[in-house]
Formats: sequence, C-alpha cells, structure tokens
Amino acid sequence: MPTIERIPKTSGDSAYRIQADLVEDGSRTRVWFESNGFPLDDSVDPFVSLALIPSMARHRDILASEPVSTALREHKGPLAEALRWRVPGIRPVTIDAPVRTGFPSTATGVGLFVDGDIDSLGSLVAAGDRITHVIHVHGLRTRLGDFEERRASSDWLERLSAEFGVVPIEVSTNLRDWCDPRVRWEQTHPFGPLAAVAATLSPVLREVWIPGASRIGTYHSGSAHPARLLGTDAVELLPDDAGTDRAGRYELVAERPGASHWLRPCRRSRHASPACGECAQCVEASIALHVFGAFDAGPWVRPRPHCSRISRMTWETETARRTAHRLLNACERRGIDPDLATALRRSLGLEPAAHARPWWHWNRLVSR
Ligand SMILES: [Zn+2]
Repeated sequence: MPTIERIPKTSGDSAYRIQADLVEDGSRTRVWFESNGFPLDDSVDPFVSLALIPSMARHRDILASEPVSTALREHKGPLAEALRWRVPGIRPVTIDAPVRTGFPSTATGVGLFVDGDIDSLGSLVAAGDRITHVIHVHGLRTRLGDFEERRASSDWLERLSAEFGVVPIEVSTNLRDWCDPRVRWEQTHPFGPLAAVAATLSPVLREVWIPGASRIGTYHSGSAHPARLLGTDAVELLPDDAGTDRAGRYELVAERPGASHWLRPCRRSRHASPACGECAQCVEASIALHVFGAFDAGPWVRPRPHCSRISRMTWETETARRTAHRLLNACERRGIDPDLATALRRSLGLEPAAHARPWWHWNRLVSR
C-alpha cells in the first residue's frame, strides 16, 4: 500500500515547490514538483493523482492522512475501465483518506501542455485565445540533469509564449523516480504524470488541455477518455486533438504565418541541437510543411529529404501510416511535386520500388 506523506511547508520554504514522501514496502521516495514562479497546490491531490494508475495496475490501495478530491475518488472505476486496453489487469483501488470539501478555487486560467510536437502546436493554433497559459514539464521526456537541454527548452518556451500571447509555465519534477520502478512508462504516460502536474497548478488554472490525446489510442469504446477522469475537483483535464487528425494539424500550423517556426518534432536529437533529419518524426514534419507550403520552419525542422530516401521510409505506427496517406492525398490534390507523390506511394507500398533491394538494406537505412 503506497502511503503518501506530504512534507508540510515551513516559513522559509518556497511557495513554488511541493513535495511528499511516497512510502511503500519499507522504501521511501521523495517526489517533488517545482515551478518557475507560480504557487503550487498545497495538498496531497497531485501525489494521489500520480500514484493512482501505478497503484491500480498493481492492486495496491492508497493511504493518505490528508483530504483528497472527490473527483479522484469517484472516477477510479471508470478510469480502470478506460485503461483496460492499455494496462492489463488494472482495477480500482481504495483511497483511504479524508474527503476534500469546499475547494476554494478561484483560478481562471486555461493551460495547454506543449513540447514542440505537432499535436501541441496544432492545439495552440486551433485554440486561439482560449488558452491563457502553456505548460512545459522538465523531467518527463528529458533528464533533469541535462541543463543545456533545459535552457534550450526554456528559451524556446519563452519565445513561443511571446509569439502566441500566452503565459509560460515551467514545472520540473522527479516523479519518474517513483513511477519507473512500478509501471511501464507507456502505460501511465501521458495521463498519470500530466494529470499530476496539472493538479499542482490549481492556484492558477481551472482547466488543462492534453494535446493529441485522440492519437493515444483506441481506448475502450463507450468509456470516458482517461484524460478526463484524472482531473481533481479544482482542475479539469481535457483531451484535445485540434478538431482534426495529425495531417490536419500540420495544415493548421502551416496556414498560420510563422507558426511552423516553433515546431520541434525530433525525438532523437536533443532540443539543444538541431533536428536529426532522419527519424520518422523529422521526415514526416518536413514532408508535411513542404506539402502545405510552409517551409519557414525554425532550426528544429530540416528541409525535405531526397525522394529516394522518402520512398524507403517505413511508417511504423498506424498513425504514421495514416498521416503519410493523408500527406500523399494532399500532395496529389494540390498538384505539387509529382516526384514526392511517387516517393510517398512507394513508401506506402502502393507502387513498387524503383529497384528492389533485400529487406535488411532498408531496415538498416531506416533504423540508422
Ligand atoms: Zn529526428
């Protein structure tokens, strides 16, 4: 049973940092969240939110001596149902804690998680002025100790916020120290960790959007989306896909002058260095911007690769394959670049390759 012991603040402590010890099987992990100058929720909610999916996956009840949001208690059943496809054997657990009542929330902000991928940028462009704050989290995808990376991300966030007229929030956290030994990252991410971070921001935000959530999977049909079920009484969580699929999000971003400058699609290179230009995300982004006529991208997107390279692409996920199809359709519809259309058709197996080569040859090129 994970027991959550919040570390109360003393007079000298920063309002911008909260922490708790998560004690389980005799081991104690101190989990903390820290913001760049925004007060954080001084309750146990963010930690319960964090512990919920790993605990339900391993059938461990949660114990806390401080009040916990009604929403977190009531949504355990639907949440287990919604995540059944992703976390085999998941089931609701007991949250043994007093009920949190009369939540004095007066926050009005609406936040959006951003990390430079097309999903977050698409949501930001599509949302217009409904978004008041953008949130970037250090310590989830990137290592906390990589200070060069953090500086680059902070700089990117600050300039992005100025461009879109929103307020930048940075949150750093070591929550992976607790999550990683207990649950596979792809089982809990992004819902659990992002919900915990969103809960910490209740003094500022009443609603937080999780971008690209529809791509996250075909969750159990008929159940609510898991992102919606992890909100607290104070902070509502909304999955958002900008009202379109991934190719549509590229089109939205391409249509807004200068927006593609903020795209950072690469998952291989670090944000401090330019895009690798080779990985599936890099190739997809450069093709999409080319097709939608917006090649004014910043240093994080390389120019479109040669067609021979594109024709050898392997679109590994269903979403990537569907996006490549949509880009091919757009390319043909717009009547631009017949060579690119041919290369895309070849990559999708709709047209035979120019020169047949053994499978390991292409495999080596793609995985390089
Ligand atoms: Zn890349």
